[in-house]
Amino acid sequence: MATLSMDPRLSRRTTDFLSSDHRMLIDGRFVAAESGKTLPVYNPATGEVITQVPEAEAEDVNRAVTAARRAFDEGPWPRMSPSERGRVLWKIADLVEEHLEEFAELESLDNGKPFSVARVADVPLTVDMFRYMSGWATKISGKTLPLSAGYDYHSYTLREPIGVVAQIIPWNFPLLMAAWKLAPALACGCTIVLKLAEQTPLSGLRLAQLLDEAGLPAGVVNVITGYGEGAGAPLAAHEMVDKVAFTGSTEVGKLIVKAAAGNLKKVTLELGGKSPVLVFPDAKTDSAIQGTASAIFFNHGQCCCAGSRLYVHEKVFDEVVDGVSHLANEIQLAPGMDPSCQMGPLVSDEQYHRVVGYIESGIEEGANIAAGGPVSGVDRGWFVRPTVLTNTNPRMKVVQEEIFGPVVCAVPFSDKDIDAIVKRANDTIYGLAASVWTENLSLAHKVARCLRAGTVWVNCHNVFDASLPFGGYKQSGWGREMGEEVLNNYLQTKAVTVAL
Ligand code: NAP
Ligand code: MG
Repeated sequence: MATLSMDPRLSRRTTDFLSSDHRMLIDGRFVAAESGKTLPVYNPATGEVITQVPEAEAEDVNRAVTAARRAFDEGPWPRMSPSERGRVLWKIADLVEEHLEEFAELESLDNGKPFSVARVADVPLTVDMFRYMSGWATKISGKTLPLSAGYDYHSYTLREPIGVVAQIIPWNFPLLMAAWKLAPALACGCTIVLKLAEQTPLSGLRLAQLLDEAGLPAGVVNVITGYGEGAGAPLAAHEMVDKVAFTGSTEVGKLIVKAAAGNLKKVTLELGGKSPVLVFPDAKTDSAIQGTASAIFFNHGQCCCAGSRLYVHEKVFDEVVDGVSHLANEIQLAPGMDPSCQMGPLVSDEQYHRVVGYIESGIEEGANIAAGGPVSGVDRGWFVRPTVLTNTNPRMKVVQEEIFGPVVCAVPFSDKDIDAIVKRANDTIYGLAASVWTENLSLAHKVARCLRAGTVWVNCHNVFDASLPFGGYKQSGWGREMGEEVLNNYLQTKAVTVAL
C-alpha cells in the first residue's frame, strides 16, 4: 500500500509503520471506522497517495466519546495518584524520544517540512511538553481561604479535572499540536478524544500506539482520524463532552463555539494570526534580516504566529528588504526528506492554491514582487517560493488576511511616534504574536507593552517553550496553551466550606 516504502532514506521502523494497516485508538483497541471508509494521505512533495487511514464519522465519534466518558466517570485515571499520572507522562516522553527519527520522518513525509527541522524542533519540543507536564501533575493544588464571614468556617478550593475533553488539531505541527493538547489534559486527569487533521494523521496514529505502550488505561485517550465536517463537527457538538480545545482557523473556531452551545461545554481556541514584525533603525541589521526572514519562512509560513507583516523604518528599509529577499531567493526548495531541503512543499493542494491565489491577488491590487512570486519552478508537488511583497497598502487582502504560507508584506514606516507605529501593528482582527527588533532596551519594553498580542518577542521570533504561555488576544483565540496557564483549560475549581 505504501508507495514510498521504497524510498531508501526512510528507516525500517517508518516503512514498517507506513505499510501497516492504520487504525484509530478507541477504548484501548485499534479499530477501523465503523463504516469501513478510509481517507487518503498524500505526500505533498509529489502529490501521490502514501497510504489510507480510517474516516471516522458520527458513530465512531460516539464510540470514542462514550469510552472517554466511561474512563472519566468510572476508570482509574482521574483517581490515580498525581505521581503515577506524572510517571505515565514521563514514560510517553521517553517513548517519543526513543522514536525521534521515525517521528521526524513521518512528519516530513506527511506535512512536507524538512526532516532536519522536524528532528530538531517538532519532535524534541513534543518530548519537552510531555516532560514539563509530567512535573505539573503533582503540583496542581487549591488554596485555603480566610472568609470575611468569620472564623467559624474553614474554606478551601479543590482543582478538579474538567472531564471529557474533545481536542481538534491542525496539520502545521501535527505531533507537537497533539502534545500541546494531550499533555496538560492528562496531567490534570481528564480523558480525551483527539481528532487529527485529515492532511497529517500519521504521526498522531503512531503516537497513539506509544500511548498504549506507556500504559494509559483504556479510553483515557482516544485518537480518531476523519474530516472536519464528518468527525470534528459531531465531536464538538457531542452532549457527553465537557470541553472542547481547538487549534485551527478563526473561521472554524467560530463554528466550534456554535457547536459547543448545545450543552454549554467549555471552549478554548488557538486561532490564526497576522503577526507584525517591527524593525527599528538601530536594530542589528544582519540579525534582523536573518530573524525576520525566518519569522515568516520557518515551516513555510504555515505558523499561526508567522511574522507576515514586516514594518521596517525607512532608514533601513531597503537594506532589510533586500537582505530578506536575497535570503528568500537562496532558499533551496526540495522534498522534506531530501538532505538539500531548506523549504519543503506546502501541506496540500488546497493550501497551494490558497497561497498562490493570495500572491496573485497582491499583484492585481498593485503590490510589487521583491522575491518569489506565484510560479515555483518545481514541476511537481505543492511548492511555493518564499515571497516578499512591497508597495502594499493596509486595505489589501494580503495585508489584512492570514495567508498561512511563505509570503511577507514589507512596509516602510517613518513615524517617530511609537504610538503611530504600534497603531499600525495593532490594526488587525488578530492578536497572536509580534516581534520587535531594536537595540534600545527602553523602546523594546515600551513597544512590548503596547502591542495587543499574546506573545511578544524582542530580537527573536518563533521561540517556543513548554513553560511559556502561548495564545491570542482579539480573534486569535480564547485561553492559553503551555506553561502553568494551560492547566486552567482543563481544570475547574470547587469551593468547599465547612462550618466548624
Ligand atoms: P481548519 O479547517 O480550521 O482545520 C483545523 C482542524 O479543525 C482540522 O482538524 C479540521 O479537520 C477541523 N475542522 C474543520 N472543520 C471543522 C468543523 N466544522 N468542526 C470541527 N472541526 C473542524 O484549518 P485548515 O482548513 O486546515 O486550514 C485553513 C486555514 O486555517 C489556514 O490557511 C490557516 O489560515 C488556518 N490555520 C491556522 C492554524 C493555527 O495554528 N492557528 C493551523 C492550521 C490552519 P480536517 O482538516 O481534518 O478537515
Ligand atoms: Mg480543513
